[in-house]
Amino acid sequence: MAGSVATIMDYPLTLNHLLGRMKDVYPTQEVVSQRPDKSVLRQTYAETCDRAEKLARALVKAGVKKGDRVATLAWNHSAHLECYYGIPAAGGVMHTLNLRLGPADIGYIATHADDRIVIVDDVLLPLYEQFRDRMPAHRTVVIPFGGPVPDGMESYEDFLETGDADIALPEIDETDGCAMCYTSGTTGDPKGVIYSHRGMVLHSMVGAQPDMLNFSMNDCILPVVPMFHANAWGIPYAATMTGAKLVFPGPHLDADSLIAQFIEEKVTFSGGVPTVWLGIIQTIEKDPAKYEALRGLRTVVGGSAAPPAVIRRFQDFGITVLHAWGMTEMSPLGTVANVKPHLATQGEEIYFDYRSKQGYAAPFVDLRHRDGDGNILPWDGESMGELEVRGPWIASSYFNYPEADDRWSDDGWFRTGDIVTMDSEGYVQITDRSKDVIKSGGEWISSVDLENAIMGHPAVKEAAVIALPHTKWDERPLACIVLKDGESLTKAELDRHLSIDFAKWQLPDDLVMIEEVPKTSTGKFQKLTLRNRFADWQWGADRRMAG
Ligand code: AMP
Repeated sequence: MAGSVATIMDYPLTLNHLLGRMKDVYPTQEVVSQRPDKSVLRQTYAETCDRAEKLARALVKAGVKKGDRVATLAWNHSAHLECYYGIPAAGGVMHTLNLRLGPADIGYIATHADDRIVIVDDVLLPLYEQFRDRMPAHRTVVIPFGGPVPDGMESYEDFLETGDADIALPEIDETDGCAMCYTSGTTGDPKGVIYSHRGMVLHSMVGAQPDMLNFSMNDCILPVVPMFHANAWGIPYAATMTGAKLVFPGPHLDADSLIAQFIEEKVTFSGGVPTVWLGIIQTIEKDPAKYEALRGLRTVVGGSAAPPAVIRRFQDFGITVLHAWGMTEMSPLGTVANVKPHLATQGEEIYFDYRSKQGYAAPFVDLRHRDGDGNILPWDGESMGELEVRGPWIASSYFNYPEADDRWSDDGWFRTGDIVTMDSEGYVQITDRSKDVIKSGGEWISSVDLENAIMGHPAVKEAAVIALPHTKWDERPLACIVLKDGESLTKAELDRHLSIDFAKWQLPDDLVMIEEVPKTSTGKFQKLTLRNRFADWQWGADRRMAG
């Protein structure tokens, strides 16, 4: 028996290793941050590492014990990166508060997480003041960008200075918690997930791989995805692990500011939700010659479905869009849609089909999909069922949530709530959230497929398709459309456009023009709002489904 025991060191997979490596291997690499006043802060990896270690010591001195939650309420910048490493190095769990939520929700989440210290950007103090009183006793550390630090709070810079070199940092075990996020909670209370050091290290190693996000020390990486949402998809950790230059946009997330930073800093890789990229491609297309320098940029798009038409428009311009799928409960990376070589050479149509899918599983992520009766479905590209996942960075429960939860199956898989098909090449395609799928006459219609096709119409800026009750068919699709400026679209024109790819019974019964598609704090279409808004919709008599 003894002969089969491995003779390899039991070396813990912790973020501390990645932090030390930043200074040891890439000391001069840059971290560039845009401040709220648009001035630029440049610091090296070595400086970032020193400051993160000071923060860790200051937190230990302030009484942070292993497992204590330390919150951040901050935009993307280098001090937030210091928190990404410094809080876990102190044994703490970095809890990134989502500043796009309403104050009542943030207050609920911070209270539920029992955050002991809050590190907050000075520009976000007005938001913080709206929920501060709801939280249990805690300390406030303010990252100063020019404003005064209010009484009763302390400056981040002064706080760092308390982190004397002789303060011992705790031993970190790879199964210790390092960070936590709450789900965006479109239904029910938001729920927290605590990530482990081991999970984060493995997630970074896998995420950086060539056939995943493909990071290297030659890259300059700008995460648009907020550091308060699902670890900014793991980009800060994976980027620093590979020694890439990091660029942070601060609060300036409009297309013009982002493009200016892409060009100025020679960004090679970026990532964000589809809405961000929609704005960017619209800007580029107005004057392509002006944005030549952006050719060659790679970007990962996820959080909600990247419309195929947008992927193509970027590709036409010379920017590669990599579609990826994940969830807060998954740290978040699950699948990435690089196109395998033998599929990339079968013509444009097939190439873009694969680019538009959500992609194949990351190494160490197991996938399966099951129908409503619990049967495991074949990977035939057609059978639709709920996607379930397993893996070393996937949550096994919610934090402090004693109620039984049906998100985990009896054999330990996590039920994602996404309805998918899987094909024989291992590519997942999301057809809907389980609550958004349109159930018409016993058949399912994919609202996502319809949206993608509608957004491919030249007159359409954005579109969401929702299920509304129907006396005969149970539910039928209503297309809610945002037109581009000066454009128009009739039902007959839309039908003509859609009838290439859809059967007649799958076409929306009606369309309605709206000013914008309501979105959640993380940029997902908030279809519940639209379903409520149009709950009393009267299907047009002349537009009823045939048959
Ligand atoms: P969150 O936990 O807030 O990141 O939300 C996770 C959910 O976002 C997933 O379960 C999907 O419904 C959706 N999502 C994420 N990425 C994609 C994608 N590439 N395409 C379609 N839906 C996505």
